[in-house]
Amino acid sequence: MSQVHAQSTQGQKAILVIHGGAGVIEKKYMTPEKEQAYKAALTQALEAGYSALQEGKTCVDAVQAAIRVMEDSPLFNAGKGAVFTHDGKNQMDAAIMNGADLKAGAIADVSNIKNPIDAARAVMEKSPHVLLACEGAEKFAEKEGCVMEPPSYFFTQDRWDQLQRALKRDKGDTTAVLDFDPRVNKIYGAGEEDDKFGTVGCVALDQSGNLAAGTSTGGMTDKLYDRIGDSPIIGAGTYANNKTCAISCTGWGEFFMRTLAAKTVSDLMEYKGMDLENAADTVIYHIIPGLGGDGGMIALDKNGDFAFPFNTPGMFRGYIGKDGVPHVFMYK
Ligand code: ASP
Repeated sequence: MSQVHAQSTQGQKAILVIHGGAGVIEKKYMTPEKEQAYKAALTQALEAGYSALQEGKTCVDAVQAAIRVMEDSPLFNAGKGAVFTHDGKNQMDAAIMNGADLKAGAIADVSNIKNPIDAARAVMEKSPHVLLACEGAEKFAEKEGCVMEPPSYFFTQDRWDQLQRALKRDKGDTTAVLDFDPRVNKIYGAGEEDDKFGTVGCVALDQSGNLAAGTSTGGMTDKLYDRIGDSPIIGAGTYANNKTCAISCTGWGEFFMRTLAAKTVSDLMEYKGMDLENAADTVIYHIIPGLGGDGGMIALDKNGDFAFPFNTPGMFRGYIGKDGVPHVFMYK
């Protein structure tokens, strides 16, 4: 199945894997400049996370460092560059989990936190709770020293245009349609690859053999009614357990929530004795598409073996391990 995407790094400690979202990422939609920009941003994220690991910092530090870089880049649907809701707002979700003690923190539907992953970590370490939402989450984040930004900071023209096309499609305007993708039975808007690509995530194994996972997203373009996706739901879009694996998902969140996708991978390993690759493949190639959903995930186990299966045309992804060289991929 995902053999070409799976790597064995048996016995190797300290490794970091990232994704920048799954979707209709195909060469025909990329200009060389755009491809270069994505490669550079993914490389920078890998280096930021890996240097934390090399300095002997924890996997939680590394996950946070890598995700911050992608949140600060306008290229990804997280932090600056988050997609717009139906009402033209940015409402972001993020989560982080520590596989050593199963502690987790998450925030949902926040609009003013520059780096939502920082707030998720603060929830994990400085609150008695796991998930905070909306103004309460923002108040807490501000109190904990997270950098706050006005809505204008998160605005990008590309995401705004993407929303305008989605709104036209909502009204049945076929000129906003470019491509029909039979694999996912969906129509994509002109020049916009996919409504739900660009979520970012990271999983890491540190020198002490601990695992962590984190995910950050603007959710899905044109989302309604303060919708919250899978990313901040522990067990759905994000999960880490030293006994099994660390997982960060991307894709059509509702399906990852209904199947508790990330925890299912862990459960298949823990209770069915599956290896990481088989467990991740089962979720991404059978369970999710079996219900009509699509997306991908990054998965890493305590041996340093990892996989990044996806059932969409592409997924921004990469890893960095012992050789210290960032490896970045986009297409199938
Ligand atoms: N899974 C995210 C959500 O549904 C979107 C994505 O991964 O692009 O909110």
